[in-house]
Formats: sequence, structure tokens, C-alpha cells
Amino acid sequence: MLFQAPTQLFLCTSWFAVAVKSYHIDDSCTRAGIYQQVDDAMQSAFAMAQSGIAALATGNGMANVEANLNPARPPQLERLIKNVFAHDDIISGNTRRYKAPARDKYHMTLQNLKLYKVSRILGLVVTNMGQQTSTPGADDVTIYCDSSRLHLTEDGKSVTDADRNNLVMGSRKGDVYKCSQSNQGFAVAVTWGAPHDGDREWSAAIQLCKKTVENVKKGRFDNWGAFSRANPAALLNRVLTSTRIVPGFAQVDAFKLLDVTLLHEMTHARGAEGLNDVTVYTLISREIEAYRWLGITKLAKKLPYVEGERPTAPDNNSDSIAYFALGCHIMSDPTNPQEITDHGRLKRLSAAVQFP
Ligand SMILES: [Zn+2]
Repeated sequence: MLFQAPTQLFLCTSWFAVAVKSYHIDDSCTRAGIYQQVDDAMQSAFAMAQSGIAALATGNGMANVEANLNPARPPQLERLIKNVFAHDDIISGNTRRYKAPARDKYHMTLQNLKLYKVSRILGLVVTNMGQQTSTPGADDVTIYCDSSRLHLTEDGKSVTDADRNNLVMGSRKGDVYKCSQSNQGFAVAVTWGAPHDGDREWSAAIQLCKKTVENVKKGRFDNWGAFSRANPAALLNRVLTSTRIVPGFAQVDAFKLLDVTLLHEMTHARGAEGLNDVTVYTLISREIEAYRWLGITKLAKKLPYVEGERPTAPDNNSDSIAYFALGCHIMSDPTNPQEITDHGRLKRLSAAVQFP
């Protein structure tokens, strides 16, 4: 019996180490009546991340970085990578070498692209946030469905969070406040990726905006599985109608539901290295964040390239990684396989894509 004690202690310690890497759904989601939808969407988000990891597994394991991947990637996956991550120089094999971490120095082509960082971030989301807990730690995420804990400071300039020692979470003028307090603004959710006060580090706070909570309640905004099971013909019709009249939207953007949104928000968390929303410029030099299909495919064609740990590269942009995971998930979905075309439309596949 005596010599068993250290083993048990070790097992306890490892279990604890896994259990603190987690997500937490705040009681406000239960009060809003959408706890289950949020939890289902989290599970779908992790499944999407797993699909992205599986899709890149072969490339990441290659010993010879300059060689084309063997076996080659399925054409649907290669097309997704081309659209979301590959600059034209990468597609043509004309990348310039530049100072970068040693393992990332290679002549990138579409056929040998490793996407180390994409794989790493999706892996961090799964390992750092993949389990539920009631006591989230610094690398974890907490999802809030109302803003009742947020208060304006006396000078009216910032928003503080009563749950977190009245920590300042954002400015009144920012989208953060708009999202929390009203229906204004376009944000679906906002995330404070690495809040801290003094030495104390708090879990990332994902705040679902009011309109988002309403849409989840009405069953209009849940997850890929629920959406594709519900009434595909009617829903697809709605998608086609709505995307035709909204400029800047592609059909696939209608499938950025709560699951893809939560995956996007999780990549902002400290536990996933706190990715950014990268900015791109339109023809008239208007700044837009690289959101949605149009934004992320534009970003892919700008410098810098992926693989260099560059903050404005597509493999550092939250929506690029979230859409990539969505694309991998739906092309390999055995019940309803779909591919995202170059123009961001969904194309039904005769069989699910298998990743090598
Ligand atoms: Zn974001």
C-alpha cells in the first residue's frame, strides 16, 4: 500500500493539470436560456479545430521540408489552403527567403506548405480550452451571455467587470461597450484575450452580443450540425437570398454560426497565443479587418507570407484560422460534405474528403 501512494499522487496531479485547461459557460447563458446551444457550439468548435489539425497532420510531420507532401493533399483541401493562406508567390514557388525561425525557412509552394502555426493554434485551442470547468484559469475562456456584471466607471470612460475585481475591460467608446449594452454596432461577440490586474491573470472573457443571444434563442445562429440537419432546402434558400443583397458577403459567411464565432474568439485568448484581427486595405485605402471570406482571401494575397511569425500574416488572423477549420470540417463531414469554392460558395461533394 505504501509504495502506491506516490503513484496516486501523480495521477491526481496529472488529472488536475488537464482539468484546469478549460472553458467555462457563465450562469448568464443559463439565465438567457441558451446554455445548451452554447455548449453544443463549443463542442462543434472543438470538432472543427480537430478537423483542421487532422487536415494538416501529414504536412507537419514531414522531415524534408522542401519536398512536396506525400501523399499529396486532397484537391479540395489544397484549394482551401490556396484561398485562405497562400500568397501568389507561394502558389508559384517564388517566395523570398527571409529571417525566420530555422524550421520555417523553406521555399514554400502550395504543394509543400506546412502551416505550422495554424496547426499549433488549433492544437492549443483543443488542449487549453477543450474541457469544461467551474474554475477557469489564465489560459482558459469564460463565455458570457449578458453584460449585467459590466459597469461604467464614474468618469464614464471605461467599462469594469464586477466578476473580476472591477478590472477595466474596455472603453465606453469602443465596440465592446456597444456590444454589451445595446443592439448597436456590427459585432457578434467580443473577447478580452488576456485580462490581468497586477499579478493576477484572468481567463479570457468572450462576451456574446445582445443580438447574438437573441438569434441563438430564435434558432437562427447555432452550429453547423444543427443548421445542416434542420431544413437544408429552406435554409439554403434564405442564405442565397440574404447573401445576394448584402455586398461584401459570400455564401459561406452565412455558415459562420455560433461555433465558428466561438472558435474565432478562442484564438484571441492567452491560451491560444492571443491572435489578432489583422487589418487589410481596400482599393480606396479604407481599412477593414480581415473578416469573412472576402477579407481573409484578400489578406492571403498580401505580404507577409505565412510561416514567419509575422503579426499581419494570414496565419496570425483569427478569422482565417476559424474559416480554415470550418472548411476542413464541412468537407470531411460524412453526412453533408460541402466544399468552399474560390468565390466562397458552398458546393456539395459526392463523398466526404478523407485526410491522409
Ligand atoms: Zn476577432
